[in-house]
Amino acid sequence: MNNEPLARTFREELEAFFGGSRCFLLAKGRVACYVGLRALGLPPKSRILLPGYTCMVVPSAVQYAGLTPVYADIDPATYNLDPAGLDQPIAEGVAAVVIQHTYGIPCDFAAIQRWAGAHDVPIIEDCCHTFGTRVEGRLCGTLGVFSFMSGQWNKPFCTGLGGMLLVNDPAIADSAAEVIHREAASPGALRSLLLRAQLTAYDLFFSPSTAGIATDLYRFLNRFGLVIGSSSLEELRGVMPRGYLSTMARCQIRRGLRAIVHIAENIDHRTRMTQFYHARLPAAGFLPLAHMPVEGYPLLRYPVRVANKEEVLAAARRGRVEIGDWFEAPLHPAGTRMEDFGYRPGMCPHAERASREVINLPTHLKVDLSTAEKTLQFLARHGRCVE
Ligand SMILES: *Cc1c(COP(=O)(O)O)cnc(C)c1O
Repeated sequence: MNNEPLARTFREELEAFFGGSRCFLLAKGRVACYVGLRALGLPPKSRILLPGYTCMVVPSAVQYAGLTPVYADIDPATYNLDPAGLDQPIAEGVAAVVIQHTYGIPCDFAAIQRWAGAHDVPIIEDCCHTFGTRVEGRLCGTLGVFSFMSGQWNKPFCTGLGGMLLVNDPAIADSAAEVIHREAASPGALRSLLLRAQLTAYDLFFSPSTAGIATDLYRFLNRFGLVIGSSSLEELRGVMPRGYLSTMARCQIRRGLRAIVHIAENIDHRTRMTQFYHARLPAAGFLPLAHMPVEGYPLLRYPVRVANKEEVLAAARRGRVEIGDWFEAPLHPAGTRMEDFGYRPGMCPHAERASREVINLPTHLKVDLSTAEKTLQFLARHGRCVE
């Protein structure tokens, strides 16, 4: 079937939202990152600066592109790259810097841009946690040379896995188009069928109270190759899987189109949920985020530090309360062999501490204020605030 007319409509919707950047539709967010990096045409082994609090699929995309990930610590108040880290030796001579907007909290763009401008270093945005957030009036996703977004189940809007690359520089967009034209596979009939079945299962079974069970089942089936999972075992070890560079399947494009039509509602909902958690956390005995503008942010998840993360997560599973574990490690998930990706323990102390302490609360369209209220009550009963 010819996907192109449908794909074009989806791309044009995204391009219109972001005001002129060029969009490409790929199998996952990490693949979008990979294509963007390839399109930069950097010399092999060039160092790419990442926040040491990210998904391992980002440094693995960097390595697949023949480049070298290096890490700077986060600001513990925002979970984003601390601009102070840019003046450390680790940042010297980097070829690009990735900013992440963790949980949907925009990074300190003014300071990072000053540094990047002074050193002539391109900025790349990891927008897998953010859609519709503005920083100093500008939309996240349009701040750097390119940005990549994820349509994975837990991301701002779901395409049932899937990724979007948004390029803000015409020459780099041309070379991204060329990489895709030359090398990308299309998903194939079996893969497309599985993806479609998974989308249907997600619609039928996923809710805040089944989130824990659904995630366990999905991971279990993934181990036996019965679903298309987020990451394969080889990928966790840093080996590029076959068919990595693939484009988006038709069912995913269709789902993305449906989501983008209702994107304003999604953004409003997330903003309202964020404001609710923000206002109510102190009464539940926890610290809200240090900075929150009056108009709020459409956060992907609201992060909260607890002194007993493992206990809270275990109780949440038993109680069927949706509470997230991002990030379990500086290179999420727990169990990633971080040294394979150039991360040594102690490199990013704030990120390591955040990995031990932070749980996160859902803001997506399937949670409402009454679920959020129950989640806060649950947290007040089971969680302990950090010192
Ligand atoms: C989920 C995520 C990604 C990767 O997205 P995929 O679509 O799963 O490849 C990248 N960066 C961050 C911060 C993420 O949370």
